[in-house]
Amino acid sequence: MSYLVIAETREGMLRQVSLESVQAATLIAGSSESISICAAVIGSDIQAAAQELSAFVTGSVYAIEQEELEAYNAEAYAHALQGLIAEIQPEFIVLGHTAIGRDLAPLLAASLDAGQLSDVISIQRQDDEVLFTRPLYAGKAFEQKRFVGSGPHVVTIRPNNIAAASEADVSGSVIAYNPPAAQLRTIVQEVVRKASGKVDLAEAKVVVSGGRGVKSAEGFKPLEELAEVLSGAVGASRGACDAGYCDYALQIGQTGKVVTPELYIACGISGAIQHLAGMSQSRIIIAINKDPEAPIFKVADYGIVGDLFEVVPLLTQELKAARK
Ligand code: FAD
Repeated sequence: MSYLVIAETREGMLRQVSLESVQAATLIAGSSESISICAAVIGSDIQAAAQELSAFVTGSVYAIEQEELEAYNAEAYAHALQGLIAEIQPEFIVLGHTAIGRDLAPLLAASLDAGQLSDVISIQRQDDEVLFTRPLYAGKAFEQKRFVGSGPHVVTIRPNNIAAASEADVSGSVIAYNPPAAQLRTIVQEVVRKASGKVDLAEAKVVVSGGRGVKSAEGFKPLEELAEVLSGAVGASRGACDAGYCDYALQIGQTGKVVTPELYIACGISGAIQHLAGMSQSRIIIAINKDPEAPIFKVADYGIVGDLFEVVPLLTQELKAARK
C-alpha cells in the first residue's frame, strides 16, 4: 500500500511544508512497514527538489516535469496527478494547506469521489484509528475527525504545525512520470509576480505584523527592520491593508493567510476575532499596543503597552547589539 505526498517547490527549492506533509503521512502510517510513502513533485526545473525529497520518503518520488506545468494551473496539475493516482492507487493523499493545496485538494477529492479533511494541525493514532485535529470557528474550538471506509482519502495540513520529516533509513528513488496529454480548457499565459519578502510568510518562524496603528506605508519600515534582524517575515492586519499601507498579500486572518510561527509580534493591531483566526495558534505572541485595553493582549503571551514607533526600533537595536 502507498501514500502520496504532493510536494511544492518555490523557485526550484522544496518548500518546508512538503517535508511536514511527509511527516504527516508517516504519522498516518504509524508503525506499519508495508506502507510506502511516495511523493510527487510537479513543475519545471524540479530535479534537484525531487532528489532532495527522495532522502525523506520510503517509496518513489515521481518527478512530473513539463514546461506547461511551470506555473500552477489547477486543471493541468489535477490532470497530471489523476493519471499517477490511478496508477499507484494511494490510500492517503497529503498536501500542504497552502494556496495551491487549498485549490488542488478539493479538485482531486471530487474527481476521486474521496473524503477530504482540510487544515489539519495534528494527527494522533488511537488503537487502529487515525484522528485528525483541525480548528473550527476561526480557531475558537477544535474538532477531531477520522475517515470511514476505504481510501483514497485527501488531507491538507497547516504549515508550521507538524514537525518536518527526518531523513528515511532507506531513501526512495526518483522516477520521471509523464502524464498523458491533456485537453486543457485554460492555460496560464503569464504570471506577474509581486515583489515579495525574502521569507515565505506562511512558513516563517517569526512574523512581525503591523496594523492600522502603523499609520502609513512608511510606518512599516521599522517592522521590516525588526523582521530582518529576526530572519522573519512581515505580515499585516486587514486594517493596514484596507488603509493602503501594504499589499493584501501580507494580510493575516480569516480572509487572509493563516500563520503559525514560533514568534508573532503584533504591532498596532487591536486583535479583532477575524485577525486572531489567522495567528492565534502561534507559539509565542507579543503584542505592542498603546491601548492597554486592546483585545490583542488577551491572546498575547507578552504585552508591551507603548508606542510602537518607540518600542519596535528599541527591540531591533537591542537584538542587533545582542548579536554582536
Ligand atoms: P484597528 O482595529 O483600528 O486597531 C489599531 C490598533 O492600533 C488599536 O488597537 C490602537 O490602539 C493601536 N495603535 C494606534 N497607534 C499606535 C501606536 N503608535 N503604537 C501602538 N499601537 C497603536 N481583519 C484582519 O486582520 N484579517 C482578516 O482576515 C480579516 N477578515 C475579515 C473578514 C470579515 C468578514 C470582516 C467583517 C472583517 C475582517 N477583518 C479582518 C477586519 C477586522 O474585523 C478588523 O477591522 C481589523 O483586523 C482591524 O485591523 P487593525 O487591528 O489593524 O485596526
